[in-house]
Amino acid sequence: MSKRDYYEVLGVPKNASDDDIKKAYRKLAMKYHPDRNQGDAAKNAEEKFKEAKEAYEMLSDTQKRAAYDQYGHAGVDPNMRGPGGGAEGFGGFAEAFGDIFGDMFGGARGGRGGRQVYRGSDLSYAMDISLEEAANGKDAQIRIPSWDSCDTCHGSGAKPGTSAKTCTTCSGAGVVQMRQGFFSVQQTCPHCRGTGKIIPEPCTACHGQGKIKRQKTLEVKIPAGIDDGMRIRSTGNGEPGTNGGPPGDLYIEIRIRKHDIFERDGDDLHCQVPVSFITAALGGEIEVPTLQGKAVIDIPEGTQAGKQFRLRGKGIKGVRASYPGDLYCHIVVETPVKLTEYQRKLLRELEESLKKGGGKHSPSAESWTDRLKSFFS
Ligand SMILES: [Zn+2]
Ligand SMILES: [Zn+2]
Repeated sequence: MSKRDYYEVLGVPKNASDDDIKKAYRKLAMKYHPDRNQGDAAKNAEEKFKEAKEAYEMLSDTQKRAAYDQYGHAGVDPNMRGPGGGAEGFGGFAEAFGDIFGDMFGGARGGRGGRQVYRGSDLSYAMDISLEEAANGKDAQIRIPSWDSCDTCHGSGAKPGTSAKTCTTCSGAGVVQMRQGFFSVQQTCPHCRGTGKIIPEPCTACHGQGKIKRQKTLEVKIPAGIDDGMRIRSTGNGEPGTNGGPPGDLYIEIRIRKHDIFERDGDDLHCQVPVSFITAALGGEIEVPTLQGKAVIDIPEGTQAGKQFRLRGKGIKGVRASYPGDLYCHIVVETPVKLTEYQRKLLRELEESLKKGGGKHSPSAESWTDRLKSFFS
């Protein structure tokens, strides 16, 4: 592969000044920044960046530039330099970018007065609600931590009568410049941790934080239909940012308490309805609960255990749903207990009478018997 001319790579004339070369390089470096080149474009951008970096390294060095002007690529083969140098020694692309762009791209870094600005952490809060509250929605009040400026030190963090001193390491900037090759790398000041200040005698009320954690009441609207595990975001109610950075968010995670009667499955509800074996046999009206109150369902004669009856629309209308789900009533046929002698006698008489019917009164048992027979034969 033939190498492109370094001036061509940077798009500058042969007589370009050092300043022009630097400007051209920065422009290209920004253009090929990984944040702006995703997917397939990223690979190509990386190549272009390497090429621009090499060109800049050569042309920004007076001696190398002179050699290049005279001999071309042969005069300044980057691979002939010491270990770690040259285009091939170029390490992590993104890593190198993070360094050069520390001062070029503000982002979360850099900021007011040059001090490091950080967004506050997100907070999470678990809220237990009942199924009814989840179905109908609710206006809730929660107590969350909030931070007030410390009254004792008026937010300075220094003990009254003393004052914070400007950090000598970074001269109050909160960041320090480190040189790395021709890059100037900006880092959070390790001494003051980016605040730009050192507090020799911290305020005892706030331990030098300048702020005190309190509680505040927050109104939260729980939307109707919310489901277990869903989160509600309350923007800006997380921890405060540092050095004027924005606060984090508060996430309220909903946990729905177990209900005595209903089990939720998405927008549908399920409930177990005990029915006496007499009602199951004879059929009749049974009362079932719904979230909207009582309802009556008519069960037919000969209803078997496990049969489901669906009540359309008696489930829950999900947060984004157009229609509510359904309520499924599962019939549980109950065997009578604690029988008197007389009741036992009646049941035995009933059994005798049913036997005379030749099994057709018990459809499951009949087919069961048949299946057993074929299984053993
Ligand atoms: Zn204080
Ligand atoms: Zn400092």
